Amino acid sequence: MTKWVYSFGAGRNEGRAEMRDLLGGKGANLAEMASIGLPVPPGFTITTEVCTYYYAHERQYPADLRDQVAEALRRVEEAVGARFGDTHRPLLVSVRSGARVSMPGMMDTVLNLGLNDATVDGLAAASGDARFAWDSYRRFIQMYGGVVLGVDHHRFEEIIEHVKLDRGVIEDTELTAQDWHRVVDGYKEMVREAIGRPFPQDPEEQLWGAIGAVFGSWMNQRAITYRRLHDIPSEWGTAVNVQAMVFGNMGEDCATGVCFTRDPSTGENVFYGEYLVNAQGEDVVAGIRTPQPMSKARAKPGERPMEEVMPQAYAELCRVREVLERHYRDMQDIEFTVQRNRLYVLQTRNGKRTAAASLKIAVDMAREGLIDEAEAVRRVNPGALDQLLHPTLDPKAPRKLLSKGLPASPGAACGAVVFSADEAELRAAKGESVILVRIETSPEDIHGMHAAKGILTTRGGMTSHAAVVARGMGRPCVAGAGGITVDYASQQLMAGGQVVRAGETITLDGGTGEVFVGSVAMIEPNMSGDFATLMEWADKVRRLRVRANAETPLDAETARKFGAEGIGLCRTEHMFFDPERIGAVRQMIMAETERGRRDALSRLLPFQRQDFAELFRIMAGLPVTIRLLDPPLHEFLPHSAAEIAEVAESLGADVAAMQRRAAELAEANPMLGHRGCRLGITYPEIYEMQARAIFEAAVEVARETRKAPVPEIMIPLVATRRELEITRAMVDRVAQEVFAETGYHVEYYVGTMIELPRAALTADRIAEAGDFFSFGTNDLTQTTFGLSRDDAGKFLPHYVEKGILPKDPFVSIDVEGVGALVRIAAEKGRAVKPELKLGICGEHGGDPASIQFCEEIGLDYVSCSPYRVPVARLAAAQAALQGGGVDRTA
Ligand code: ADP
Ligand code: MG
Ligand code: MG
Repeated sequence: MTKWVYSFGAGRNEGRAEMRDLLGGKGANLAEMASIGLPVPPGFTITTEVCTYYYAHERQYPADLRDQVAEALRRVEEAVGARFGDTHRPLLVSVRSGARVSMPGMMDTVLNLGLNDATVDGLAAASGDARFAWDSYRRFIQMYGGVVLGVDHHRFEEIIEHVKLDRGVIEDTELTAQDWHRVVDGYKEMVREAIGRPFPQDPEEQLWGAIGAVFGSWMNQRAITYRRLHDIPSEWGTAVNVQAMVFGNMGEDCATGVCFTRDPSTGENVFYGEYLVNAQGEDVVAGIRTPQPMSKARAKPGERPMEEVMPQAYAELCRVREVLERHYRDMQDIEFTVQRNRLYVLQTRNGKRTAAASLKIAVDMAREGLIDEAEAVRRVNPGALDQLLHPTLDPKAPRKLLSKGLPASPGAACGAVVFSADEAELRAAKGESVILVRIETSPEDIHGMHAAKGILTTRGGMTSHAAVVARGMGRPCVAGAGGITVDYASQQLMAGGQVVRAGETITLDGGTGEVFVGSVAMIEPNMSGDFATLMEWADKVRRLRVRANAETPLDAETARKFGAEGIGLCRTEHMFFDPERIGAVRQMIMAETERGRRDALSRLLPFQRQDFAELFRIMAGLPVTIRLLDPPLHEFLPHSAAEIAEVAESLGADVAAMQRRAAELAEANPMLGHRGCRLGITYPEIYEMQARAIFEAAVEVARETRKAPVPEIMIPLVATRRELEITRAMVDRVAQEVFAETGYHVEYYVGTMIELPRAALTADRIAEAGDFFSFGTNDLTQTTFGLSRDDAGKFLPHYVEKGILPKDPFVSIDVEGVGALVRIAAEKGRAVKPELKLGICGEHGGDPASIQFCEEIGLDYVSCSPYRVPVARLAAAQAALQGGGVDRTA
């Protein structure tokens, strides 16, 4: 018999934290907390396997589920001393969803389930508080009506507003038991009208309705979108938690709140959170009343910290904080309720945090001895590091303050104001930077928040939806900017007499909560402190070397600042486009004879020599891989008739001749055309000039600095061994010439890119002629899939969306296909030449998943764009910690 239901707190704890796949995160942690003696209301979890079963069997439950639920419910009744549906002492429960990973988009929790026209009196009698009982009942109808029966939430609010107006009061708290009774009557009537049948009175029916709604929500559009954005497989399913209610809304000695064991924005080791007296459930995050801070230290004048208002429950909560951090060895996000001064913990999970907090917490916890250095390295998501390398507002830049809200998620962002998530997505897709401005956000806005550079809300606190989601996504966010009025209808926002219309630019500082009109200058982030410490720890465990793709001095300097250990790809053609040189390049292309070409090339030589010398100086003895000319020549010629005329004139060339030449060089399929070593072989003088520039620069810098550079000369687009032999012989000859002329010798290597399937498959032959391979995985992906990157936009996104390809193969290496070729080439190459150096220099060199693959097949280095270098260092360390690397000494 399959066990579908696991009890917690009810005389037994059948689950553990490790059972998150089966029980969902919430259920597994409730069981874990109950088993370590923390105050958790009793309940049970219906497993994720039931969800899977449900969808595999046309939405039917397993036959024995009802019995198992009934039994678990009985145990809860015993533990609480109340009975489900009892008119004297009714047991009330919450029904809560919970997948393996916390997932917005799932059904909202239903509280106070089990109330009906009869049990509400029982609750009033048992608690001695009729107002509380009727308030709970109306909350139940409202939640159940909204999330299970699908009644629009505005219709409930209208009824409350109506009663308030009638009674002449403003706050909910001023309503009496009779008033709430009236609200309940109004609700029931409205629901009956909306769904065509009465609100369900039978607690059993209520319970199964809510359970069905949780499972049903697994396949709603919001949940599906969220799973797609976060790579969560739909087979995982969700669990359902049913738990005895505790009440934070029974009076002034009751409360509900959300807290973090450390500050989720900065990572500081301070107790952080918000709570509300006499409130229930998600009142704290709903933004209806202003939540109060937890600790005195964090309270501003006039605020009422929990530490002062409820010292006993606060002390207990501090103890829980300690216990949970020691137990889970990570920062926890805790939900709690205080009923008559008694604390209950309702949820704990590893807290979402900003990249900055994630870094600080990992480093601090390692220093505190909670975790070791390797664990700290594992904890920081390399992708998130990226955010720390992003700019903040320049403190000296002029700015015009519009308003101020809460600093909900740090970082600065600047962009055009948009008022809807759809609009944000639409405009971002066109490459525009946008700021999503909303009164408040809800899970329906996720796609727009993702597309936006920053998020601004006028309502809600630090734990509001906008704040939590923005921090998780790494988007700067200013929340609860109450001084700003948003008018969706007229598409504008107003603050202190200033008006900003949709499309106009604003700037957010998520670290201070400030909002500025227009754009404000930004500055580069600081790379010292915790960042440097973590990088040091990462470097200790990492095996893969990390180089950068760089050709300009600025890029090379940035790369070194970020810790690059050399240049893995210098694309020489980028140097050809400089206005000073493009003339000579074009003259070379136009030349009819080899002599003419050599003349033009001799004018380019000093420029190239200078470029290389500068790179060698900056890289100070670190390896520098220089790729000889790769693109087809027509890329350097103008295209339109007008441009051709202009260029021809400036070169003193014949317009018709240039047109003819451009036509000659035009290719239908330039990616597979006359490029790479094919150029070097047909026009040897081009590669000769480049090789000469490299060696002359190397000698110059070796003499000047006494630190000899080690150039690695890389021949692109090699398909056969013969191609490499021919070009290599040329390079070697030029090297000997330069060494003879200068009387100076430098060490150098000649290798090739592996970017054609034929090269990969014959890598053993090619390796005999080369000193190193660098996998050019951009071209290798194009040639392996037989698709051109420039044209892929028309179908590739569709392929990814439909799951035909798991990921964009240009972003993350296609391990199965392209990866197989890389693996074959690495093995074949090393079989004939064990010392063959192997690296990767495509976009994949900075992608953590691809780096993991490079570690597994034992490459020597990855090379990526300068800004990705820290990401790659950390990813390489994590890959090494994961193991799976080949032992090259074996
Ligand atoms: P979410 O996954 O959206 O956080 P939860 O299931 O945690 O939803 O429920 C939201 C809130 O509802 C909790 O933080 C808590 O305040 C309240 N809640 C849930 N179950 C109970 C319960 N048994 N007693 C009292 N409050 C509860
Ligand atoms: Mg919720
Ligand atoms: Mg929760």
